[in-house]
Amino acid sequence: MTRRVDDPTLRQAYLEAMGVQAWARRDAAVERVAAPVSEAAGAGSLASDVTSVPTPPSPTPAPMDPSGIGALDLGGLARVVADCQACALAAGRTHTVFGVGDPSARLMIVGEGPGAEEDRQGEPFVGRAGRLLNAMLRAMGLDREAVYIANIVKCRPPNNRDPRPEEVAACSRFLRRQIELVRPGIIVAVGRVAAQNLLGSTETLGRMRGREHVHAATGTPVVVTYHPAYLLRTPADKWKAWEDLRRVMRLLERDR
Ligand code: SF4
Repeated sequence: MTRRVDDPTLRQAYLEAMGVQAWARRDAAVERVAAPVSEAAGAGSLASDVTSVPTPPSPTPAPMDPSGIGALDLGGLARVVADCQACALAAGRTHTVFGVGDPSARLMIVGEGPGAEEDRQGEPFVGRAGRLLNAMLRAMGLDREAVYIANIVKCRPPNNRDPRPEEVAACSRFLRRQIELVRPGIIVAVGRVAAQNLLGSTETLGRMRGREHVHAATGTPVVVTYHPAYLLRTPADKWKAWEDLRRVMRLLERDR
């Protein structure tokens, strides 16, 4: 169950936690941020701001499934993932990181793969990047528990390198089944690696942002934004992330 935070004071507090407010004071260019805050706080303004929503194509037919994954629920799928040795990443993991959140969430967050802390705890988006993701969600009026969070690969790539194509290929059936089961109205791909693999694209993140996308396998609309870890290193781009989140809010409002 998602929960909207319509109180502008509360939303402003979360935007400050996200770090957006600071530029609004310093940088005239971020008038673009200041305006959306007040707009977003007004109920009913979001749906009318949607200019185009992708028309989902027919989902790609599911591949042959001799493993029976297509018949599993989330609990069964998590147990299969916990024992998975299908790619080289299994050798270096402490824990698999399956995914967390509301199993019927309207919004799914998809990241790249576990980092060191996620590998230790077995949960996606913990630590500083996780706290910023939580603040981003709260700025949209959503609790972390109200969304579903998963990654492209479920085991940590060593030294935080990008997952290799064969590792993504081995793991993609799990994410696909998670999307089929949760059936989110919108997926937010955070970071280049997540976006490229989810969309089968080689475009830069900058080119993928601000456009409508669809996850071909399930027909789910996808919005692309920055990874919270990148935003921690490059806080000047947080206002762009807030633009992306506003797009997500509009789509959620429309999908209501
Ligand atoms: S990354 Fe995915 S495919 Fe590879 S071992 Fe882990 S769960 Fe299996």
